[in-house]
Amino acid sequence: MSPSYIKTFDKEGNEITTVGLDRFGFDSRVPLDVLRSLYLRSHYIISNNDTKAIVNLSDKEAEAEHAKLSSGYTLFQPTSIYFPETASVSYSTLSRFPPVKLLPLSQRKRVLVTGGAGFVGSHLVDRLMLLGHEVTVLDNFFTGSKTTVSHWVGHPNFELVRHDVVEPFMIECDQIYHLACPASPPHYQVNAVKTIKTSFMGTLNMLGLAKRTKARFLTSSTSEIYGDPEVHPQHEDYWGHVNPIGPRACYDEGKRVAETLTYGFQRQDGVDVRVARIFNTYGPRMNPYDGRVVSNFIVQALKGEDMTVYGDGTQTRSFQYIHDLIDGLIALMGSDESRPVNIGNGDEFTIGEFAELVREIVEKVQAEDGIPHQKRVEIVHKPMPTDDPQKRRPDTTRAKQSLGWQPRWTARMGIEEMVRYYKAKLAEGDL
Ligand code: NAD
Ligand code: UDP
Repeated sequence: MSPSYIKTFDKEGNEITTVGLDRFGFDSRVPLDVLRSLYLRSHYIISNNDTKAIVNLSDKEAEAEHAKLSSGYTLFQPTSIYFPETASVSYSTLSRFPPVKLLPLSQRKRVLVTGGAGFVGSHLVDRLMLLGHEVTVLDNFFTGSKTTVSHWVGHPNFELVRHDVVEPFMIECDQIYHLACPASPPHYQVNAVKTIKTSFMGTLNMLGLAKRTKARFLTSSTSEIYGDPEVHPQHEDYWGHVNPIGPRACYDEGKRVAETLTYGFQRQDGVDVRVARIFNTYGPRMNPYDGRVVSNFIVQALKGEDMTVYGDGTQTRSFQYIHDLIDGLIALMGSDESRPVNIGNGDEFTIGEFAELVREIVEKVQAEDGIPHQKRVEIVHKPMPTDDPQKRRPDTTRAKQSLGWQPRWTARMGIEEMVRYYKAKLAEGDL
């Protein structure tokens, strides 16, 4: 295969060519290029104005177009075509799936991923599939989309089920990654009662399933359970500072009660549980309009619109790239650590600094791609949302000690990759 289109270096300056870890007798490493071929690519070839000419594109030309973004892994790409003059797409199916590991039955797990069509879920699904497991995605497509996992539909190891976790679900499985829940503040606040129902009843149903099947259960908790923290950085023994009646409570309290349920099932019924407290995570496939800060800033800067900093921009967040999170989730599932574990990146930015960083990276990518310099986008201020936490940074000592996990991606590397992803979508007319 040809070398990576974008070279990526970790905090020590070493090139990142694989993601995943070799821990607890389980090697979860996969080549970064293969993963990238699944998300960092154009979804369809764009026709010029002459429809006929594009339909007649030879396979070679079509492949060359895709190779620009997918490091030569074109064999596994569909070649759907976008016709700008009619704003329509002609979809095609995959001729061949990416190769997945052939695991002996004794090592192959039947894995259920709730919320598997969402941002985090779809990346987890790619990893588990490439590693050779049998994966079932359960999703109601509230904030997720079939398109995030459509490249696996039809694969013998993959199943996609439209289902709301608020209702019980029966399946035989060995592991459950329970991710189903909207994660962006505008989305989880749109129907607060449904959000808390999803957190409570969804987790209750999935724990019941874990109890019956004796599956190991991992729940995706959040840094939000610490609320607007009085302890900095936040370690797992901190109980948090949450407003129980504010607009964020449906999510924060929902996740807190989900943790309570999880440990209730562990104590009463011996369910084998794992709790990941995830800190702000970003990456390709994030819904560009879900209102979270990273997607907002990149899309605004790419479109030449004003970048909206809420409040005076002195509030802080610590941003983790998606691949580090997936490494952590898989390591936690494979470990003996049943206490809550923070999974996040300790590099803390004020939101004002972060806006400037994103603007600089977007300008750099545009310059590299030969896009003529346009007017610099402005950073503007908007009102601060209610109960917006002032500071957030994870203490990841436990993850390091128990899982041998540490984040590897710098914000600069992660943002650059995400800029390229949105840039391709923008070019396709998909943003
Ligand atoms: P997302 O909104 O992209 O994905 C959530 C998925 O769950 C979507 O596919 C959605 O359709 C599905 N879903 C929502 N309600 C459902 C229901 N009732 N039944 C079935 N499916 C349902 O969000 P994400 O960023 O991928 O987050 C995934 C999980 O990780 C969430 O539980 C979230 O709370 C947690 N988390 C994420 C972050 C982050 O920064 N991304 C931080 C902390 C915690
Ligand atoms: N934010 C911002 N501009 C935006 C979106 C968010 O300044 O366009 C701020 C938001 O007020 C918060 C931080 O960025 O302080 C992170 O917001 P996000 O919604 O991504 O996540 P969360 O608040 O849940 O950490």
